[in-house]
Amino acid sequence: MAVDKPELVNPNGLPMPAKDVQIVKDGGVPTVADIDPARLTVKLSTSLKEIPPTDDLVFGDMMTDHMLLMTFSPSTGWSAPEIKPYGPLSIEPSASCFQYCPNVFEGMKAYLGPDGQPRLFRPHMNMARMKRSAARVALPAFDTDALLVLIKKLIAVDARWIPRAKGCSLYVRPTIIGTRPGFGVTASCANAILYVLLSPTGPFFKVPAGISLLAVGEHVRAWPGGTGGYKLALNYAPGFEPQRAALEKGYQQILWLLGEKVLEAGAMNVFVVYKRDDGDVDVVTPSLDGTILPGITRDSALTLLAAHPEATSLPHLSNRMRLHTHERDITMPELFAASESGRLLEVFSVGTAAVVTAVSRIGWKDREIKLPAYGGSEIGPVAKALWERLVDIQEGRVEWQGWSVRCE
Ligand code: PLP
Repeated sequence: MAVDKPELVNPNGLPMPAKDVQIVKDGGVPTVADIDPARLTVKLSTSLKEIPPTDDLVFGDMMTDHMLLMTFSPSTGWSAPEIKPYGPLSIEPSASCFQYCPNVFEGMKAYLGPDGQPRLFRPHMNMARMKRSAARVALPAFDTDALLVLIKKLIAVDARWIPRAKGCSLYVRPTIIGTRPGFGVTASCANAILYVLLSPTGPFFKVPAGISLLAVGEHVRAWPGGTGGYKLALNYAPGFEPQRAALEKGYQQILWLLGEKVLEAGAMNVFVVYKRDDGDVDVVTPSLDGTILPGITRDSALTLLAAHPEATSLPHLSNRMRLHTHERDITMPELFAASESGRLLEVFSVGTAAVVTAVSRIGWKDREIKLPAYGGSEIGPVAKALWERLVDIQEGRVEWQGWSVRCE
């Protein structure tokens, strides 16, 4: 059935050029194919790589044997998904991904459960965030459940790569890039490639102690109305030079500020623990006002902290102590004042890569906060408890609210 001047939309609801659309459903509503796991083809590698010892793993350096790949075109929608040997992509040099960066990605991890089955941690949240990020840069939408089915299949194919040691895992990197050829500064919804890579990983930071942060206000990562709340590739490159400069000054990561307001630590969400007069503690993290990435570890941390001690008891923390969680602004003067009055107990950052990382010192404008040490360790009790409980849930030793999802 032919359609005259149809109202054309891709799965994202974005208009598309009429000439590009050929598929017309019954009733004359033009549409294109969504991701369909039933169309998956699998081509296995004939030369499998040697897996390095866990101790030699550097985050993100080594890819497994296979990848998942599919393309989006306006005339046919999402192509039949392929699992195939890891290898280069063929992309036009004029493609929009190289010119204007309509690129989004996710970071997830697969763990081996005690039953030997691979597991993912709250993967539906990653899929939902990826769809939101894609929509922000006018990339095509997709069926998030269908993509998750395919990611699980890819993990099953490369399951031998999942490290067994505690705190180690297989990092999963779903990515969508806009591939519309040409220099037009317009939406890339016409063409895209979606691919998923896997990379074995040990603990993200190899320091047993906490990390040091340099609070930076002159370079800004995110601002009201900007894109900090989305996982877009374009949010990261502007941090490379400030990060290099921070390293030169002796700090491992940047504490991103907006004015004097704390946003994030490197590519992680930040938490601060304050002592209260009643013996409990306040655990504070910046609220999701659009300048903060809505981290899945952040959400999990808030839930677990608030559940202590009634719904779950966090390891080694007193059941008499309550952890009062707050999502609100944190400022640098507030941190210095709390440090000087002895109320600042812990600062830690959370994210998929490192799970929970204690902060040992924070530099700002030639001043420095030194966080307290706990029995010779720079990891405070709240950060430690959270790390232990999260890793136990992720690796399937503790069941909590269905967060750990088996790849069946
Ligand atoms: N903030 C930024 C900027 C990130 O890139 C990440 C990592 O994805 C996070 C926070 C933590 O998010 P999640 O816990 O979902 O990994």
